[in-house]
Amino acid sequence: MATRTCSPRLAPAPPRGVLRSLLLTLPIAAWSLLMFFHPGAHTDPKSLVAATITAFFMTLLFFMMVRTGKTYRWRRWFFVTLGVLFPVGFIYNLVLARGTMGIPIEEMIAGRTPFCFLAIPLLIVPAALTKTIVFPGSITASGHAIAIMVGLWLALTLVLGKGWCAYACFFGGIEEGMAAVAPRARIRKLDPRWRYGPWAVLLAMVLLSFALFEPAYCMWLCPFKAVTEYVSARNAVGLLQNAIFIVIFAALVIVLPFLTKKRTQCSFFCPFGAFQSLFNKISIFEIKIDQTRCKSCNVCQTACPTMALSKESIARGETLMSCMKCGACVDSCPQQAAVWHIKGTELAWKPERARLMFLYAAWAMAVMFGGSIIAEGLVTILHFLT
Ligand code: SF4
Ligand code: SF4
Repeated sequence: MATRTCSPRLAPAPPRGVLRSLLLTLPIAAWSLLMFFHPGAHTDPKSLVAATITAFFMTLLFFMMVRTGKTYRWRRWFFVTLGVLFPVGFIYNLVLARGTMGIPIEEMIAGRTPFCFLAIPLLIVPAALTKTIVFPGSITASGHAIAIMVGLWLALTLVLGKGWCAYACFFGGIEEGMAAVAPRARIRKLDPRWRYGPWAVLLAMVLLSFALFEPAYCMWLCPFKAVTEYVSARNAVGLLQNAIFIVIFAALVIVLPFLTKKRTQCSFFCPFGAFQSLFNKISIFEIKIDQTRCKSCNVCQTACPTMALSKESIARGETLMSCMKCGACVDSCPQQAAVWHIKGTELAWKPERARLMFLYAAWAMAVMFGGSIIAEGLVTILHFLT
């Protein structure tokens, strides 16, 4: 069936006034101040400078999202910065804390192994440079802090659903960076069946874990695996684990996003993303397609970085379960038919207000997790510059 074209094109909504935008940005500015300038936060000038830059950066981006009514392009500035600066600060802090990029096996056996579930690619560089495996550093070192992290993740996931993947994951930042630097997509046609990839990986990992009585994902794919990687990398299985991981990372996080301008690791592989998408059923925020406006031009489908729209889902007026609420479809729709929506309300109920409510929660998380990572990366850069 031939697709209809989107015409006439609707005029985009005019930008909000500066004063009103500033007022709406105040809660995020206050949150940034609280996060970055609480008492005792800074013991040296570099950290103060980095915190100031980060707080301003995050607040400015939020202001621009409010003022322009656009989400994706401003969020992407944050997200790519996160993807670039995470490895910078992370590796430096690891060396600073331990004096080495590796971790002694005795510390692992003694359970003194801090963890970071976002650190997979950091295994690659040190493996090549030092012939040892980096333990992926520390977000936290105590059970109490881990409990807080898990609690925060759960609370935010319940509100944002898969929004976690668009506002917190540095892996996605690297993918979006690679997609952004590509002048155009060289591979345009992607088999929609790849969408089942993350679910297949998730299922395989769960079954393997049961069969082997060990955490297969952690040992083979996830950054958590680094706890065991250091040991096993000294034998054939360990080398195989590294080789598989490096191939997957290079293909799905670096090369394919550049060729397709999509987040291929998220769309085709990431079992954590699949798991997160289950929470889209619970989250009150969603993206809907207003059928009274939609012209079936599929511009939104092309814009979506994670293949979370299909012709069929657009015809049904909804996204697929893998929607991460990045806003690219809403920003790109020439008919303003793709809208932010709060479940249980009328479709026509104030989509801009729904967007802002979502953004307050998502940006609070972005400031808290991503902002602190960006600040750490800046401190590291300032350290080397001075
Ligand atoms: S919702 Fe998508 S398909 Fe419908 S008009 Fe907007 S861009 Fe075109
Ligand atoms: S459907 Fe829209 S909001 Fe959801 S991931 Fe795709 S572009 Fe982003």
